[in-house]
Amino acid sequence: MNRFEVDEHFAFLLDRHDPLAGFRRRFFIPRGTVYLDGNSLGLASQDAVHAINRIIAEWKELGIRGWLSGRPPWFYLAEQVGAMAAELVGARAEEVVATGTTTINIHSLVSTFYTRKCSRTKILADELTFPTDIYALRGQIEMQGRDPATHLILARSEDGKTLDEARIVELMNEDVSLALLPSVLYRSGQLLDIEFLTREAHKRGIVIGFDCAHSAGAIAHKLSEWEVDFGIWCSYKYLNAGPGSPAFLYLNEKHFSLEPALKGWFGYQKDKQFDLEIDFEHAQSAGGWQISTPGIFGLAAVHGALGVHLEAGIEAIRRKSSMLTSYFIFLVDNLLATPPYSFQIGSPREAEKRGGHVALERDAEALRIGEALKSRGFVGDFRPPSTIRIAPAALYCSYHDVWRTVQCLKEIIDEKSYLAFDEQRHPVS
Ligand SMILES: *Cc1c(COP(=O)(O)O)cnc(C)c1O
Repeated sequence: MNRFEVDEHFAFLLDRHDPLAGFRRRFFIPRGTVYLDGNSLGLASQDAVHAINRIIAEWKELGIRGWLSGRPPWFYLAEQVGAMAAELVGARAEEVVATGTTTINIHSLVSTFYTRKCSRTKILADELTFPTDIYALRGQIEMQGRDPATHLILARSEDGKTLDEARIVELMNEDVSLALLPSVLYRSGQLLDIEFLTREAHKRGIVIGFDCAHSAGAIAHKLSEWEVDFGIWCSYKYLNAGPGSPAFLYLNEKHFSLEPALKGWFGYQKDKQFDLEIDFEHAQSAGGWQISTPGIFGLAAVHGALGVHLEAGIEAIRRKSSMLTSYFIFLVDNLLATPPYSFQIGSPREAEKRGGHVALERDAEALRIGEALKSRGFVGDFRPPSTIRIAPAALYCSYHDVWRTVQCLKEIIDEKSYLAFDEQRHPVS
């Protein structure tokens, strides 16, 4: 356990010894803000912006020739960016491709594995996962003419915040064909034991995939070594690639010969794609699961943004991220736990069981306190009913940012300034 101190000098001391401190200068931090929402939309970096500008210049200068003469050539960019991301998640280069969006990639991979031919007919997920995953799984079950009410098994949470891996395993019975679970829960920040769940699923003949939207770019993974069957994640959270930029899919190499269910010409074998044969032959790599022409502007942003991550190193990012969240928890415990503050920590206390954010909870007034925080330039987000998520991203947040956040929360309660805010939620919170 790290030993922290509550005074401001200690925050400065931590910043002075932070090996990643220099990366902050590469990011555009909105003026007057302490940005704590990197788990929802990461910030723009000079690197991402340069990469987009370069594509704009290439489009002007090269037109269609950009597909092969761009630097790098646009035609191979999705695979190239996939190989970069593979390093961050512990996969082989050809097991990851940048394509589609998170939800589309769930549909694409689940429909590949979960078909009418499966003798097992059920899918296992959990009740705390991000809703889009549930919507997509229900849709997949319906497409096979089955009833989601009986065919989607949801692992329940005892405390409404965390999941017990052993209870998930109890649900892995011989009716289950496929399991899709989150790596990190979007509300509490709990990091599930991916290796253990994968091993247990495989013992029972179940294909298992993980939604890594809340872990990619924040923690190190070993997807190949753990033999995870498939994974998906977006690029715009911790990976800082911009709103709606292309997402990723990971497919273990042992599945490359499966037939993609959502076929499209960008999944064709690369060297023969422009032969334009009408019989589909997919690339024997994750690239075979691409569908359409990639959005090169977005992909360029992903390319630029990933470079920053690779330069910093995912192990160093994880180390700092754990320190930042542990420091935040320490300060809340010491300064904000008792009345009138009465904040609680809704995330696991062991740093190795947490992703990159902390769920700060309060029985009353969490929504308005979150609004008051934002009005003072501290940008976190609110998740109903009573959680303020605080995500100090390692590449651009400092220890002093964390210290100031806790001081600000204290002032908001001391001055009761949250009372001035509306109890209405905005359409994006
Ligand atoms: C953010 C997030 C998504 C987002 O899905 P999109 O298709 O990119 O809109 C999906 N799953 C999880 C767990 C997320 O956190």
